[in-house]
Amino acid sequence: MFERIDYYAGDPILGLMEKYSADSNPNKVNLGIGIYYDENGVLPVLDCVKTAEERIADPIAPRPYLPMAGLPGHRKGCQELLFGKDAQILKDGLVATIATIGGSGALKVGAEFIHDWFPQAKCYVSDPTWGNHIAIFEGSDVEVGKYPYYDKANSSIKFDEMIAFFETLNKNDVILLHPCCHNPTGMDLTQAQWDTVLNVVKARELIPFMDIAYQGFGEDMDSDAYAIRKAVEMGLPLFVSNSFSKNLSLYGERVGGLSVVCPTVDETDRVFGQLNATVRRIYSSPPSHGGRVVDIVMNDEALHEQWVGEVYAMRDRIKAMRLKLKSVLEAKIPNRNFDYITRQNGMFSFTGLTPEQVERLQTEFGIYMVSNSRMCVAGLNTSNIDYVANAMADVLKD
Ligand code: PMP
Repeated sequence: MFERIDYYAGDPILGLMEKYSADSNPNKVNLGIGIYYDENGVLPVLDCVKTAEERIADPIAPRPYLPMAGLPGHRKGCQELLFGKDAQILKDGLVATIATIGGSGALKVGAEFIHDWFPQAKCYVSDPTWGNHIAIFEGSDVEVGKYPYYDKANSSIKFDEMIAFFETLNKNDVILLHPCCHNPTGMDLTQAQWDTVLNVVKARELIPFMDIAYQGFGEDMDSDAYAIRKAVEMGLPLFVSNSFSKNLSLYGERVGGLSVVCPTVDETDRVFGQLNATVRRIYSSPPSHGGRVVDIVMNDEALHEQWVGEVYAMRDRIKAMRLKLKSVLEAKIPNRNFDYITRQNGMFSFTGLTPEQVERLQTEFGIYMVSNSRMCVAGLNTSNIDYVANAMADVLKD
């Protein structure tokens, strides 16, 4: 009966994690999956989260269903983080926000919504992008195309080509953008470049869908949201999916949000209703525990401040690792330029290693990164960085 079912080859990034776990090399280093590990190589529980957990700790409390859209405090937390605490559009009620099952859930609900209400729209993602972007939109029967983004030869962005491409798109085509900490390249647009992109979006009446999974890991909470807030200032309709997986270190709790900025209150109500309907027919309502943590941390002023500090500490540790990696590699291979390592933002570095070099790192050194050469810099620490830098230098030299 099930013989005709295709085997699933597994997810390349999650599969790498399994391979890493099975490796008996005592020096092994996991730079594959996008997870922040602290200086001791441990997945942190943020202090603000510990406090929130203490406040809700009651293992025998009743567990009712949450509303389809999740907890109001979770939704408010998403909105204020993305658009700014005092944003006029929030006061005017022009944002439909639902709490979602991680950033992935937000993308899924958004993709379903686009499929249902903008059936002609194609969705364009950056080349390259996080692989699941393509899978999620195609899984909702939205046709996916790619726009030029990363210039491998120069470790930079093909900005002019990207703009020229956007100029060819049709009204209501969706472009999926990463407001900060582009995954997988780490290469972000400048604010001036965002302005240019958004002018094209406006002129061609495209639909921007901004996926922000690393807010706070780039420059700071507000600068990282520049593109989102600029789109709002320009009066554009806008989809934003956000994830708290990384910046609250709540990966397994699956917390995120989907926000749609609308021109009028009536349209906001309609969109909010349809987002609820979409949730209802897929998973009915989100889980409650992570949502309660988000609600507490985002809405308690002192905890929120503590949280921001904790995110910046993670950000700064990653930046320090970038500097160190760059300096060791420069010392080892003086005729090669490694500036790209510190020009990139967020958790990832696109190292430009060939698949063969990535393979050698894995088999000879037990160092795991994605075959497209993406390294999770947040997996480096002072104990493993010399080992990794020396190994990289080794495979680059040969
Ligand atoms: N968008 C991007 C760009 C991501 O990198 C990720 C996580 N890897 C997600 C969305 C999904 O986030 P979550 O794990 O919260 O589903």
